[in-house]
Amino acid sequence: MVNLAGIIEKQLPPELVKFLHVAGEAAHSRGQGLYLVGGVVRDLLLGRANLDLDLVVEGDAIDLAQRLVEINPGKITVHARFKTAKIQWDDWSVDLATARSETYARPGALPIVKPSSIDSDLFRRDFTINTMAIYLDPSHYGELIDPYGGRDDLERRLIRVLHEKSFTDDATRILRALRYEQRLDFRLEPTALELLKRDVPMLDTISGDRVRHELELVLKEKYPERILGRAAELEVLQRLHPALKGNGWLAQKFQQARELTSPSLPPVGLYFALFTYPLTGEDGEQLISRLRLPKALTQALRDTASIKAKLESLSDPELAPSRIYRLLYGYSTLAITASWLASDSPVARRHIRLFLNKLRYIKPALTGDDLKRMGIAPGPRIKEILSLLHEARLDGNVTSERGEEEMVKGWLG
Ligand code: ATP
Ligand code: MG
Repeated sequence: MVNLAGIIEKQLPPELVKFLHVAGEAAHSRGQGLYLVGGVVRDLLLGRANLDLDLVVEGDAIDLAQRLVEINPGKITVHARFKTAKIQWDDWSVDLATARSETYARPGALPIVKPSSIDSDLFRRDFTINTMAIYLDPSHYGELIDPYGGRDDLERRLIRVLHEKSFTDDATRILRALRYEQRLDFRLEPTALELLKRDVPMLDTISGDRVRHELELVLKEKYPERILGRAAELEVLQRLHPALKGNGWLAQKFQQARELTSPSLPPVGLYFALFTYPLTGEDGEQLISRLRLPKALTQALRDTASIKAKLESLSDPELAPSRIYRLLYGYSTLAITASWLASDSPVARRHIRLFLNKLRYIKPALTGDDLKRMGIAPGPRIKEILSLLHEARLDGNVTSERGEEEMVKGWLG
């Protein structure tokens, strides 16, 4: 029997270790089994940091969570429908779920869920390396439950499914498989690879919201281009939209995006705009509806496409700053940043950068009120003059408030 109590002690913060003991005892006193499951078990064995703890209880997770916050005060969020609860403290959080079995009425459907034992709860999971649990019951504390050989697969660095219908039941697992494969630098075990290839068409059964969610998870990884590259190789991307590519161009642009936003990772929207950049407007619209993209992201992608159509104008080396301003004004910063990264014209890039770093902040010093004080009657004339001043400022034809006043007087005279 493998016992991981020592590893838990070594890798998790002392407060969290204490919490696990207390939780195990509380569940035990109610006659319920409690287990640490999924990703954290995998990462404990790999020696990778992971403070997203998932717990499964053979009993009502919400009741237990409420008892646990009485002992150890924290913020509790309850999802009655899913029989899950989340407890958050300042630095970490714990998800608590009721052990459940899942069956699929048809491919891609949401599963039919029943309360169950830990065994069936493990059987519903995706890959052997995610299908291990650790007992928290005081009498077995730290013992590993590994019914599908997850530990061996970790050693052999393999992503293996639990059964032949895994990707058919839930084709989001196709993207999950590639994500773990690339994140951990593992390989799909040969049968899993064959099944995955066979079941790529099952992606059509997955709703836009769920595919989008999986893509977001991909884009939150450290090197999303590796996953997208692999997804292209296996024709997974093409199934989402035939025009999507995961090639060297994308890898280069993602790398540049990281250099730009370092030390933070690029926002998912920026990656998304680069990912969809090569698509035509029509392809982009198809993808927006397939993935039911939210409003803000949809707008950013449309802005990016619209800037792309202006790249030729932006590549004119003689372009006045005021003209650059007019070409780029009104688009989201995300779209402009993506266009800067994606463009291959050095001149266009220089112009876009000038807009981002400088032009967008330039405003005339005089306001409408100032103009009225100078004797200009309220009306459309004010707006016109302000716009001329703005242009003069952008092009460097005027550089001070005094200068602006002189300019206005000149126009009036
Ligand atoms: P990560 O480090 O990416 O968070 P994780 O293993 O914690 O990895 P989650 O997406 O947080 O992954 O899910 C938690 C656990 O739930 C997984 O380990 C896996 O056992 C199970 N799981 C999640 N999604 C699925 C799915 N689509 N099909 C089957 N099991 C799943
Ligand atoms: Mg997780």
